Amino acid sequence: MIIAVDGPTASGKGTIARALAAHFGLPVLDTGLLYRAVGYQTQLNHGDPDNAADALEACDFPASLLDDPALRYESTGSLASRVSVHAEVRRALLQRQVDFANQPGGAVLDGRDIGTVIAPHADAKLFVTATPEERARRRHAEMLERGVEVSYEAVLADVHARDARDTGRADAPLLRAEDALLLDNSDMGVDEAIAAAIAFVSE
Ligand code: C5P
Repeated sequence: MIIAVDGPTASGKGTIARALAAHFGLPVLDTGLLYRAVGYQTQLNHGDPDNAADALEACDFPASLLDDPALRYESTGSLASRVSVHAEVRRALLQRQVDFANQPGGAVLDGRDIGTVIAPHADAKLFVTATPEERARRRHAEMLERGVEVSYEAVLADVHARDARDTGRADAPLLRAEDALLLDNSDMGVDEAIAAAIAFVSE
C-alpha cells in the first residue's frame, strides 16, 4: 500500500504521515528533508539557492547530511523552498522518491507533489491543510517553545512566502490531486486529524 500525504508548510502533514506509517506498519519518507539537504548543501558550497546550476550541484549532498539538526531550522526551510523551484533539482531527486514509494510492501511519503508526480498511482492520497493564520500560529508556538525569538507576524509572512513559491512554480506546483482527501485541520486537534486520516485510508 502506498500512501501519499501532501500539503503546505506547517499543515501537520509530517505528523499525520508518521502516524499513518506507525499505524499501518509502513516505512515513511519526509521528502521535504531531501530539499532541505539540497538547500543547506548549497549554502555550505557558498552557492546561490536561486541559481539552478548551484542548486543542482548540491544534490550530491552526503547521506549523513540527512541527520544534521540544521536541516530542521526555519532558515533551511526557506533555502529548501528556493532550490525546489528549479526543475533540474526536482528531476535529480525524483528517482530516489519513486524508488522509496514503490518498494515491496509499500510506503508513506509526505511532501508537495507525492500524489501528483511521485506516486500518482498511490492507493490513498491526502491533502492536509489549515489556514495560513493557524499554520503560522502553530509554527510560532513551536518556535517559542524551542527558545527561538520571533514574532507571529514574521512567521505568518514566511508562511505566505513559502505558499506563494510552492504553488507558483511552473514545474510540479503544490496542488491537490483530484482523488486526494482534503483534510483541513484548522479546527481539529492532532488526535482528531490523525483519526480522520486513518479512517480514510482504512476505507
Ligand atoms: O515540508 P518541508 O517544510 O520540510 O519542505 C521544505 C520545502 O521543500 C518546501 O517549502 C517546498 O518548497 C519543498 N518541497 C518540495 N517538494 C516536496 C517536499 C518539499 O518542493 N515533495
